[in-house]
Amino acid sequence: MKTIILRKGKEESLGRFHPWIFSGAIHHTEGDKLEEGDIVEVLSSDGRFLAIGHWQIGSIAVRVLTFHRQPINQAFWQKRLAAALDVRRAIGVAEREDNDIFRLVHGEGDNLPGLVIDVYGSTAVMQAHSVGMHVCRHELAQALKEVMGENLKSIYYKSETTLPFKAQLGQENGFLYKEAIGEEIVNSKSSNSKCDDVARENGLKFHIDWLKGQKTGFFVDQRDNRSLVEHYAKGRKVLNMFCYTGGFSVYAMRGGAELVHSVDSSAKAVELVDANIELNFPGDNRHEAFAEDAFKFLEQMQEKYDLIILDPPAFAKHKDALRNALRGYTKLNCKAFEMIQPGGILFTFSCSQAVNKDQFRMAVFTAAAMAKRKVRILHQLHQPADHPVNIYHPEGEYLKGLVLYVE
Ligand code: SAH
Repeated sequence: MKTIILRKGKEESLGRFHPWIFSGAIHHTEGDKLEEGDIVEVLSSDGRFLAIGHWQIGSIAVRVLTFHRQPINQAFWQKRLAAALDVRRAIGVAEREDNDIFRLVHGEGDNLPGLVIDVYGSTAVMQAHSVGMHVCRHELAQALKEVMGENLKSIYYKSETTLPFKAQLGQENGFLYKEAIGEEIVNSKSSNSKCDDVARENGLKFHIDWLKGQKTGFFVDQRDNRSLVEHYAKGRKVLNMFCYTGGFSVYAMRGGAELVHSVDSSAKAVELVDANIELNFPGDNRHEAFAEDAFKFLEQMQEKYDLIILDPPAFAKHKDALRNALRGYTKLNCKAFEMIQPGGILFTFSCSQAVNKDQFRMAVFTAAAMAKRKVRILHQLHQPADHPVNIYHPEGEYLKGLVLYVE
């Protein structure tokens, strides 16, 4: 196996089981020339075995797969995937009649750095964020079939936008496996494929468009927070900003909201919300969707809402964008505080990994003060249990939310 030798003293974070090795920690490599995605063995400066991981060019040079000497093969993947499925059973999201949408693999949180797998009914959508996972995709698909058994009818691979551009992998999205045809299809083009599957989350139905939708097709990470919206929705006038597929809206409808308005700047998203509402509440005219910019909508809105959800896209994708992102959160929340009815409830989120819980809370605090409203924190929210955080990898915590009572 190709070997990486660390600089003296650079093994410390691995001793704490942190799964990343930064390029600056590497002293030299031994063996054949490294290719991106290679599986490498990592040794300390005095030759001690430390870990095995995937190598690629970039600031995170190695993503650790194991801290033990063992072969990385299909049996290895199978064991990791089976462990991930066990966790989902323990949480109570897998193998349920009324819920077949869940995240099976959440990267480092499941000791599989660089890999995400979301399950929608009998389809698994696999996404590689590292070249190594891309290289292993067929082994992974095979292992996934073994672990999921007959519950799995297809595996769609969707990594066109998540793999490092510079690695020039020429990757196309496509099915890795499809039962209907009964054979593996290597990187088949997806453009002619139809994708109109309905899957269930807590008994509610959703069209999932993993072919053209954002991320793997659905924001699985808001499930628990949607349930909380349902709990508060009764008799309220609900505004769901940045609604995408309308997850929060569908739950608010079931919760007995008086009316629900969904807003997204994408016309495609608005079509999806309408379809999902129709799927669950055919002919129910409590709901209306608007294809509009969020800030513009808040400026011009006519209705008086008393439950507002703000779930914007990540304002900061990197640390350097942090200050602007915080200003963005303050501006958005301030507008919501100004507009919400007395006794209203605001659900406000940030999914920017670069913004931590305290910074987000400070941005919302500033917004409340600017709007001069009396505000209580009712709940502090985070990502659900099927998006677990590896205790040795705090960077895995990304979703933060506050539920606020605005007097
Ligand atoms: N709340 C959603 C996920 C939101 S993703 C859910 O539960 O599934 C963020 C969404 O914000 C995307 O659909 C994107 O189209 C939308 N968006 C981005 N910028 C926007 C803007 N300025 N105004 C309105 N919507 C915007």
